[in-house]
Amino acid sequence: MSYRAPINDMTFLLENVVDYNLLENSNYFEDSSLETTVAILNEASRMAEMELNPLQSIGDQQPAYLENGVVRTAPGFSEGYKAIADGGWIGVAANSKYGGMGLPLTIQNCVNEMLNSSCLSLALNPLMTQGQIEALEHHASEEIKTLYLPKLITGEWSGTMNLTEPQAGSDVGALTTKAIKNHDNTYSISGQKIYISWGDNDFTNNVCHLVLARLPDGVQGTKGISLFLVPKFIPHHDGTVGKKNNLNVVSLEHKLGLHGSPTAVMEYDKATGWLIGKEHQGMKAMFTMMNNARLGVGAEGLGTAEAAFQKALIFAMGRKQGKTLTNDTGTIIDHADVRRMLMIMKSKTYASRAICLATAVAIDMSNASKKEFWINRAALLTPIAKSFGTETGIEVSNLGIQIHGGMGFVEETGAAQYWRDVRVTSIYEGTNGIQAIDLVSRKLMDGGKSAINLITEIQELITSDCSNITGFNQELKSAADTLTNATQWMINCKDLNERFAGATSYLEAFALVLGGYYHLKGALADDQLNKQVRLAKFYLSHVLPGVSQLCKTATVGSDAIYGLSVEELSMA
Ligand SMILES: Cc1cc2nc3c(=O)[nH]c(=O)nc-3n(C[C@H](O)[C@H](O)[C@H](O)COP(=O)(O)OP(=O)(O)OC[C@H]3O[C@@H](n4cnc5c(N)ncnc54)[C@H](O)[C@@H]3O)c2cc1C
Repeated sequence: MSYRAPINDMTFLLENVVDYNLLENSNYFEDSSLETTVAILNEASRMAEMELNPLQSIGDQQPAYLENGVVRTAPGFSEGYKAIADGGWIGVAANSKYGGMGLPLTIQNCVNEMLNSSCLSLALNPLMTQGQIEALEHHASEEIKTLYLPKLITGEWSGTMNLTEPQAGSDVGALTTKAIKNHDNTYSISGQKIYISWGDNDFTNNVCHLVLARLPDGVQGTKGISLFLVPKFIPHHDGTVGKKNNLNVVSLEHKLGLHGSPTAVMEYDKATGWLIGKEHQGMKAMFTMMNNARLGVGAEGLGTAEAAFQKALIFAMGRKQGKTLTNDTGTIIDHADVRRMLMIMKSKTYASRAICLATAVAIDMSNASKKEFWINRAALLTPIAKSFGTETGIEVSNLGIQIHGGMGFVEETGAAQYWRDVRVTSIYEGTNGIQAIDLVSRKLMDGGKSAINLITEIQELITSDCSNITGFNQELKSAADTLTNATQWMINCKDLNERFAGATSYLEAFALVLGGYYHLKGALADDQLNKQVRLAKFYLSHVLPGVSQLCKTATVGSDAIYGLSVEELSMA
């Protein structure tokens, strides 16, 4: 059996855990009732299962390649892309004025999860376009919006994001791509960008690149960067494409995974570009796109976790090995250690899905209400959703390999591909190290107000009626208290590098506590079967205790980390 979309799990979370009713009740979104939402998700699931999932291994085995400067994509990818585009799945959350569905990002997030589970390398293409759509909606002139957005939303054209250069990875401010203003208000863009996902393809009529570059009067660092839209073919006013722009794919990277997605080195040689937003304010515009994309990458991890779990589960139910002590099915699923792995996979995937959806709801509510509370909540949750979603994808797919035994290490089962494909998600869109730094610096700049608000919300739930899981809520209370202390430590610590030393542990602790919160909410809303209660009990007893250790390392400072000098590290 191949991938089956977890519509029931998604619906349960939307209905009971992540306050989706706030969106249903807001006037901002066109019809987003839960009933309509579930119907939309069912429709998307059919496309994901039937049309995309068969492409998963094809993209891996027959990667995209460059032929005389033209990118050739894996067999079937063109048809798979058409299925995504024709279903309207690129523009679920895009403005209806330009042809989008005008629905909450929360729905887009659920759809994206299914695309990611089915074929991550192809799903990355529309994700890039979605980010571009959002950046243009917020920052482009009306003329550009009218010309580009309908084409991007229907998928006739696709979008990319060009930040990285050889010397400018995490440090985007180090970029050297140049922009010079032409007489006709366009700009001439020159420079090289590397690692550009879906830098080209052979199935859209145009590829529109959002490129960060520096004008001659732009200061060094991020403050001197501007954002430009640089299409592969220069469009006419009527939306038909004209002459080829001066840009080329120089080469494609050979990678550990995600083979179906062409990762390009791009050369811009006096290419014609259009300014998006204001001069020197490119990072502001790019951040609009990055927040969307960061949540999208969190959902890449989540989607992979779900698919890897499903594959491992099926394998464990069929593989006979040794006598099991529980005398049940006689397959490895009855071994305690295998069941432990499956429960970690299931409970962390649940936590990760809840965090991604809660982040999407917060982003939607910040758009709907413009209230500071929601803007700050969305900002706080975004790095957590990105990091925890991707780390969960990596951990779960790694456990998936383990459950397959030797069959996980040979490529035939497809278990290894999930791990190879998802591994990059903790690196791109801002490494998880950078996300953690963002959390303990920028996201606590409000004096920790939004972090403490959220932890207080958790503590209030624990002290309310939790009778049906008595005993286990104590574990969550203790974890939330420990996290409060670690948050206070972060706020009071004036030495940034001391904070940075504990940032990754702090982020993980925060995510685990949030996961506990959403498990508890799920357990409280459980139906008569008590399934959620038992899943929550596992999470609270086997996963949550890690918070105490993580908070310890989060607040111990940097002394031990710098304990060995660089010379000592290098000594044999
Ligand atoms: C398959 C793939 C697809 C990609 N797609 C795109 C794309 O479409 N568009 C695009 O623009 N880019 C893309 N990237 C680039 C990606 O975003 C960068 O690789 C990423 O930002 C990290 O930059 P880097 O590789 O230069 O690593 P570096 O920045 O050199 O980082 C190396 C290590 O140092 C750490 N580090 C760096 N700076 C700090 C700091 N200040 N504090 C603490 N730790 C730090 C990092 O966390 C990391 O562990 C892609 C990359 C890959 C591999």
